[in-house]
Amino acid sequence: MSSASESPDKATANNPLKHPNSRIAVLTSHFTATMSSEKDAALAAAAAPPPADSPTIFDKIINKEIPAKVVYEDDKVLAFRDIAPQAPTHILLIPKIKDGLTGLSQAEERHCEILGQLLYAAKLVAKQEGLEDGFRVVINDGPDGCQSVYHLHLHLLGGRQMNWPPG
Ligand code: AMP
Repeated sequence: MSSASESPDKATANNPLKHPNSRIAVLTSHFTATMSSEKDAALAAAAAPPPADSPTIFDKIINKEIPAKVVYEDDKVLAFRDIAPQAPTHILLIPKIKDGLTGLSQAEERHCEILGQLLYAAKLVAKQEGLEDGFRVVINDGPDGCQSVYHLHLHLLGGRQMNWPPG
């Protein structure tokens, strides 16, 4: 057991989170790096917020200017696999027409229908992906929510046990 009087080297050697050769240390540093890069991307996006009608990477996906692994499409909603998956199943669902919905915080009453359609599509895609044991739907909003792409999107995550509270 480590104590306050222990030398820093011994404390490090006995602490699996700090020992440089420990698998836990490697995993911890990986997740810390991943989390901070997502946070950095969100803060960078927030530092120069684009006008509501300016195109994002998701417009290029909608317009098929860049490829995406599309898993579901109807007349209002497009769903495709996240390029940096945070779970075995990680799918983004977006409205094909942004109509000012850079994020959920910009929603107005006229958006109620598309918001419902996005949620219902998430349920359909979850079933299609075989997520019978459950799944999670996340909407990041603004800098505090770690949003990095300013075109409303739902994250559908599944295929592993989720944790609570989220980070
Ligand atoms: P958020 O941080 O909530 O704004 O989520 C944006 C998500 O878009 C992140 O999970 C990114 O990995 C994802 N993403 C960014 N570019 C692409 C792309 N070209 N194809 C698929 N997913 C992307």
